[in-house]
Amino acid sequence: MSELTRLTGVGPKRLKALESSGIRTLRDLVYYLPRRYVDRTRITPISSLQEGMDAFLAVDIDSATVIGTRLVVQVSDDTGSLELVFFRGLHYLKQALSPGKRISIAGPVTHFRVFQIVHPEWEELAEGQDARGGILPVYPMTEDMEEARVDHKLLQRLALETLEKFTFSDPLTPEERTYLGGLHSEISVLKILHNPSTLTEVGEAMQEIKLRELWPLCLKRAIAKRDRIGKGRVFPAQPEAEKVVRTALPFNLTQGQEQVLGQIGEALERKAQFAGLLQGDVGSGKTAVVLLAALRVLAAGAQTALLVPTEILALQHFRTVAPLLEKAGFTAALLTASTSNEERSSMLEGLKNGSVSLIVGTHALFSPDVLFKELRFIIIDEQHRFGVEQRAAMTAKGIEPHVLFLSATPIPRTLAQSIYGDLEMITLAEKPPGRLPIKTRLVPADKQADMLEFLKKEVEVGNQIYWVVPRITASSVPVKVPPEKGSDQEEVAAVESTFKRLRAAGKWRVEAVHGRMSSVDREKALSAFRSGECRVLVATTVIEVGVDVPAANIIVVEGADRFGLAQLHQLRGRTGRGQAQAWCFLLLPKDGIPEETLERLREFASTEDGFKIAELDLRSRGAGSLDGTQQSGFGVLRYTDFLEDLELINGLGGKAGEWLDKL
Ligand code: ADP
Ligand code: MG
Repeated sequence: MSELTRLTGVGPKRLKALESSGIRTLRDLVYYLPRRYVDRTRITPISSLQEGMDAFLAVDIDSATVIGTRLVVQVSDDTGSLELVFFRGLHYLKQALSPGKRISIAGPVTHFRVFQIVHPEWEELAEGQDARGGILPVYPMTEDMEEARVDHKLLQRLALETLEKFTFSDPLTPEERTYLGGLHSEISVLKILHNPSTLTEVGEAMQEIKLRELWPLCLKRAIAKRDRIGKGRVFPAQPEAEKVVRTALPFNLTQGQEQVLGQIGEALERKAQFAGLLQGDVGSGKTAVVLLAALRVLAAGAQTALLVPTEILALQHFRTVAPLLEKAGFTAALLTASTSNEERSSMLEGLKNGSVSLIVGTHALFSPDVLFKELRFIIIDEQHRFGVEQRAAMTAKGIEPHVLFLSATPIPRTLAQSIYGDLEMITLAEKPPGRLPIKTRLVPADKQADMLEFLKKEVEVGNQIYWVVPRITASSVPVKVPPEKGSDQEEVAAVESTFKRLRAAGKWRVEAVHGRMSSVDREKALSAFRSGECRVLVATTVIEVGVDVPAANIIVVEGADRFGLAQLHQLRGRTGRGQAQAWCFLLLPKDGIPEETLERLREFASTEDGFKIAELDLRSRGAGSLDGTQQSGFGVLRYTDFLEDLELINGLGGKAGEWLDKL
């Protein structure tokens, strides 16, 4: 029996409506907070309505007519008339809102030929009753609630009744409440929110609710941070090994790389387990930096694991890193799902006895039989591709390991701090020298033939092209195949049709890669592309993460409107690594795209600054679009918004640390 039935007026029907809206306990109920409030202290005459205002009115009902799927209710006062429009609950509303009745209504005013309010809050007024009252809370309403006649008034009454009748133990101690700035008790703050006397009061109370939501999370982070102190092995610089590898590198490190390497080095020298996030725009040269940092660990006889999200990337890293390490006398190994059993078992042996110093691997590294002699350093590339548990599983294989996350999706510093508050932030801003800006162009459907001619000429003079087709989600295409296979098969089909089209279009060798290929075939295609034998590579976004072929200086993105900007930035970052002018062509669909999307793509085309693009992306999609948000360890926040409440989150992070010190 649900505890909610202990409240007056909650029968089976309402109970069901509440439960289906996520309210299962009394606690859920009191935390089901109003979405907004209507100030009923002043009545607005219809004649002074303005579009966009949140109005409160007292009116007479003149007519109520169902037109198609809408119910249109004509109302008036002494000064004019107004339309109310409803899309849900028509049946009930048609009866309840019968002509001749007097009602009070509230809601945002829109103008569509005439003034309208869509789904206003309303209440019937008795003969001669003054409509005015206090502040009315407006709760999020679901269709189930409307059907069960659970309205704002009822939700308010139930919440207040609960807060009167039952006791809740406040998760915050009185000391914590004082420390956090003299917060109300939990019950008082909830009472304010369900029944405020002024709107100012609401703002303050809401701030307290956010604090209450964030505090335990910030404490958890602060504890994790504190727990790392005094742990982890100290790794001093290893100048000799470093010199060997630096000499073997085909370039000198940039100032930026040197600085970042210095920061990581310092962190490895501290008597504390290091947990850091290296943010560096795509192509900024993070690999060389982490390799040099790892040398400290290897030369001291301990091991390093480099975890990457795709096989392609693993292989590429392995190919870069292994020969360099060999020169310095260390053995690297590569473990992926396609590693043969034989190789795998000898590799596992090598990891256990310590003869393998560094392992590059994909998810294959999580397997329980992958065990290390002394794993002390874990580098997680493209960190957002891994879940919290996966990262934890990896860490569990080490001995108080230092962990460095790599991210190529830069985000503004304050935001990074709020999302990754427990990590030390290291930023690689500069890019290797001598790179020309990438020219980005939007290509409407009728200009694609021209582009193709241009591409052919470019290929003749030695250029190479990535041609990306979007991942098609099952919902965006008519389902012709069983849904569980849908997206994948559609994607393969898209790759194949583009592949055929391009092969027919010119005298060039075209290869294709997609997620459904065997790794042998994929590697064949990629190595033909890498060597330049093949000039055009058709691919899904499998190439998005980290593929590095400097001679490929052109990227074409089909259905560019379907990608997020951060992802486009990653894709574009595949080019611009060689000496030649790089191009990025964003193909637009035939049937036109919303102006807003077009504007977004134009802005993208005008900048290569990863931080700026991240901000654009955030603005258009909200913080929820950030892969990192879910991975912040904060989970889904109900009352707090990562973007709007940045200052609050960051401030509280600091306070949590100080609080622990005081205990
Ligand atoms: P990311 O930061 O995206 O992982 P990579 O480490 O893959 O970047 O490096 C991108 C490219 O830049 C590689 O081809 C790499 O060899 C090259 N590179 C890295 N550092 C330098 C440098 N200091 N000078 C010139 N080229 C560099
Ligand atoms: Mg990389």
